[in-house]
Amino acid sequence: MHQVGSPDRRPVSTTSAAYQRCIAPGCGATYDIAQIKVACDQCGGLLDVAYDWDRLAPPTALQELEQAWQFRRDPVCFSGVWRFHQLLPFAPRERLVTVGEGQTILQRADRLATLVGVKPGNLFLQYEGLNPSGSFKDNGMAAAFTHAALVGASSAACASTGNTSASLAMYAAVTQIMKAIIFVGSGKIAYGKLSQALEYGALTMQINGDFDDAMARVREVCEQMGIYLVNSVNPFRLEGQKTIMYRVLEWLNWQVPDWIVVPGGNLGNSSAFGKAFSELHALGLVDRIPRLAVINAAGANTLYELYERRGLRWNGGNVDQSIVRRYYEELDARSRKASTIASAIEIIRPVNLTKCLRALEVCQGVVREVTDQDILDAKARVGTSGIGCEPASAASVAGLHLLRRENVIGADDRVVCILTGHQLKDPTATVAYHTTDQDLFNRVLRNQGVMRASHANRAVSVANDRDEIIRAIRLYVHMNKH
Ligand SMILES: *Cc1c(COP(=O)(O)O)cnc(C)c1O
Ligand SMILES: [Zn+2]
Repeated sequence: MHQVGSPDRRPVSTTSAAYQRCIAPGCGATYDIAQIKVACDQCGGLLDVAYDWDRLAPPTALQELEQAWQFRRDPVCFSGVWRFHQLLPFAPRERLVTVGEGQTILQRADRLATLVGVKPGNLFLQYEGLNPSGSFKDNGMAAAFTHAALVGASSAACASTGNTSASLAMYAAVTQIMKAIIFVGSGKIAYGKLSQALEYGALTMQINGDFDDAMARVREVCEQMGIYLVNSVNPFRLEGQKTIMYRVLEWLNWQVPDWIVVPGGNLGNSSAFGKAFSELHALGLVDRIPRLAVINAAGANTLYELYERRGLRWNGGNVDQSIVRRYYEELDARSRKASTIASAIEIIRPVNLTKCLRALEVCQGVVREVTDQDILDAKARVGTSGIGCEPASAASVAGLHLLRRENVIGADDRVVCILTGHQLKDPTATVAYHTTDQDLFNRVLRNQGVMRASHANRAVSVANDRDEIIRAIRLYVHMNKH
């Protein structure tokens, strides 16, 4: 792993061609790049990182970005985030932080395509589980951590369902630039993720509550103590996550696919993807924008409820916040909490909601919800194509399957599903699905409403006896003859 530059704590110059801007068009307040903000002072809205492209040097064609491949020994060129620095130029090159994130692949998945009703050759899986900490969060963390270092932060914090904390803890440990402080809800965090935060030495606090509670607390505490917040309300996180789309395009030889399908939790990815494409389009680097499908878990379906059932829209920036408020009041009145086996998207107050609405408008998006049963069945099918993912990631494939049945996505459409995290993040969910141990199945899955494991690959118990073992193998070979 590499780290670029020294832990330089000089403040950044304030004459940068990059700045922060409130996303509400009626407000549009701007802030210096060196300010630490997660909301607009004027209206409380979300912020974007914005650029005076006229004063910068964006590529004139996307193919130019491939030149970085020639200099792979330079950590900035090797990084799957920073080799696109021209498209997220908020920090000087010599101040960029990288641990080698973004070495991910777009895998053609013909077998899976057939299973979900897409023409073989047209379905691709963008496997973000290959990142150094095992999830797409590293793309965003490289950028947020760079900004934190730029403004001289000495500690950074996040609330996390697990992957943000694993990523933050890793960047802090590898670079030694600052301390990592982590807020997790009690109970649901997957062991793969918790084990990372602990081993990388982060201060790990389990708050008595769920993710939404931990999120509210971390905002308070960061504000009061001047700690740098790296959740995806941080606009710099989303700059890094734009590069997931650049890598998808690069792998497709800069051809724009028809659909991007992504799980929705705090809605950082979907927001970042929308920003990536609207910028590429405004710069004249792509001639069309793909459609976006954001997939919620049914047990954490705020975006689905608001967008598809209650008609909430970006509406040129005039989002009808009364619809949102009323919905959250209803949730409170019913004491409803998020609940899904896909712990990474177990969030019912998504912080990037309004930004995601903008992305849905830019990309003519749709939103769907899928059950935990759908998610785990899709996950098992993804697994048979040789790329493992964690439950939340499989929501994208379950969502694609649903959208194909509805014929919203056509059989001939070219589709990219984002696999957000690695299979080993949550081994409990996987083993419980495939197990023959009914108690384990009940405790982990049936409790979440998963009734069957239709695509389970069950382990076979065989006596410690040569002949019985040979018989079992012969039976397997016979049953799997094509
Ligand atoms: C964080 C996370 C998500 C949710 O992404 P958002 O950008 O918050 O919508 C989905 N899957 C995995 C594996 C994650 O870690
Ligand atoms: Zn504002």
